[in-house]
Amino acid sequence: MEYRTVAEAYRDLEQTSSRLALIDRLGELLAATPATLLPTVCYLCQGLIAPQFAGVDLGLAEKLAVRAVATATGISPGQVTGSVQETGDLGLAAEQLMSATAAGRAASLQVSAVAATLRQIADAEGPRSQGRKLDLLGGLLARATPLEARYLLRLISGELRLGIGTPTILDALAQVHGGGRAARPALERAYNICCDLGQVASALVSGGVVAVEQIRVRPGNPVRAMLAQRLSDADEILVKLGGRCAAEYKYDGVRIQAHRTADGAIELFTRRLERVSAQFPDVVALLAAGLGPAEAIVEGEVVAYDAAAGELRPFGEVMTRRRKHGIDIAVRDVPVGLFCFELLFADGQDLTQLPYPQRRARLAGAVTVSAQLRLATATEVTNAAALEAAFGQAVADGCEGLVCKSVSPDTGYRAGARGWLWIKLKRDYRTELSDTVDLAVVGAFAGRGRRVGVYGALLLAAYDPDADVFRTVTKCGAGFTDADLAALPARLAPLARPDKPATVDARQQPDVWFEPGLVLEILSAELTLSPTYTAAWGEIKENAGLAMRFPRFTGRWRDDKSARDASTTRELTELYRTAQRKPAST
Ligand code: ATP
Repeated sequence: MEYRTVAEAYRDLEQTSSRLALIDRLGELLAATPATLLPTVCYLCQGLIAPQFAGVDLGLAEKLAVRAVATATGISPGQVTGSVQETGDLGLAAEQLMSATAAGRAASLQVSAVAATLRQIADAEGPRSQGRKLDLLGGLLARATPLEARYLLRLISGELRLGIGTPTILDALAQVHGGGRAARPALERAYNICCDLGQVASALVSGGVVAVEQIRVRPGNPVRAMLAQRLSDADEILVKLGGRCAAEYKYDGVRIQAHRTADGAIELFTRRLERVSAQFPDVVALLAAGLGPAEAIVEGEVVAYDAAAGELRPFGEVMTRRRKHGIDIAVRDVPVGLFCFELLFADGQDLTQLPYPQRRARLAGAVTVSAQLRLATATEVTNAAALEAAFGQAVADGCEGLVCKSVSPDTGYRAGARGWLWIKLKRDYRTELSDTVDLAVVGAFAGRGRRVGVYGALLLAAYDPDADVFRTVTKCGAGFTDADLAALPARLAPLARPDKPATVDARQQPDVWFEPGLVLEILSAELTLSPTYTAAWGEIKENAGLAMRFPRFTGRWRDDKSARDASTTRELTELYRTAQRKPAST
């Protein structure tokens, strides 16, 4: 298969915004892909060359990519940099420059060769690796057409900009290889428990939907996190959960999924599927000592923790552990505890289908607790007073509140779903007028007055998973410290786009657009209806979306979340409806 076929599909996808048209065009590409290459092409459409959790990093600095383009075109690196600054996009700059120097070049790159070379680029390590990466990329560019160069460079710089996410690729796979939309839930379930689109695609073409249904949880492949709904009232929570629930402490830290594979190795994954064992060697050691089953998947919250005093420390402290350098010192200065709350796999058995009480009992049997390896505190409650008491105790002990978990028989672990089996009750819900939400930055407005030179306000959006689109909900300039404001331009620069990204639905024109990538925690006084914002458009009222009034950044950068983990438009609708049901004074 020629890489040209992939590049042409990318070009069409980039120009398409209708979801159905995107699925059709992607379907066309997947239908034209031989079975053996289907996993590779799926990864390429995700902007990857291997599943995300494999952590394969092409690791090519922009400076190096600029040099490769300079060599390929015979133009000086300075001129290439100038062109990148003009277009705001390394891929476009390379395409334009190569249109002059390689205009008539016939397409000759094969998908398999491109994937193999990209792999070699990623694998190159050691003192001479930068030169080797440069040579490998140069070799690809020497044979690429201008259009192919556009996408090779974007892939390498981690910015494919196709406007499609995994949900859209799953739609296209269902359409082309699964016999239609009916196959979509099976594909999604499989993806949610293995996080590997290539594995799902490969099972689908080789054995049909039946083979996809047979994909099981397996140590080594992260399982997408089960998520919680929110309510602010103990009675309502108990009604939702059938009159009884397990009230578990909600620890304020970093969610970790620990996998011990058959070879004894322990790997830690974050919710964003990053591997963080190197950042938390102390957590790995705790698990190596205290985890019974030879093969296992355990979930818990890593929290900054003073074990001697039994004191939970604030979230900000554990975030200082998310670093690449100076790890020994950080381990010494910020000790942590792991508070386990799930066991998804143990000794050859997938436990995700078991009801929660049984999983919890298995967890208690699998973990030998120690000063820093603990089980999440849990009590079963059957009335609102007991739930309130558990909440008060959790807050007094330094937690954010509770996660109330259903104990009914059908409480299997729902990977990747935010359902009503888990309901969080947080401190914020009690002390503020409204809840915090996590929103993706999609645009910014230039600052005026005191804020000249930095952003004055950000345009923020919630995620609509059904359409795989980000819909705006507010403009926020409050709550940022001077240090936050100074940090924003650099944090957002890699995401800046000259035009509105295809994944963004907005009715305003900010001064800069951003590909959704940075997530911020926002507190707001109220949700209202507005003709300016597009979240939940037309759902509550015709020609109106939901908007936040008096939004404020809480100071919490949700670097642990990817854009698609931001609060959803459905959650906002729920919040709006809940607020409508309450008397105005609460
Ligand atoms: P928040 O911003 O409220 O932490 P979130 O969007 O990160 O929420 P949710 O699933 O809504 O995630 O809330 C549950 C989160 O709380 C989990 O992702 C996990 O990190 C954390 N947590 C802490 N203690 C527990 C517990 N005992 N059980 C489940 N999750 C817990």
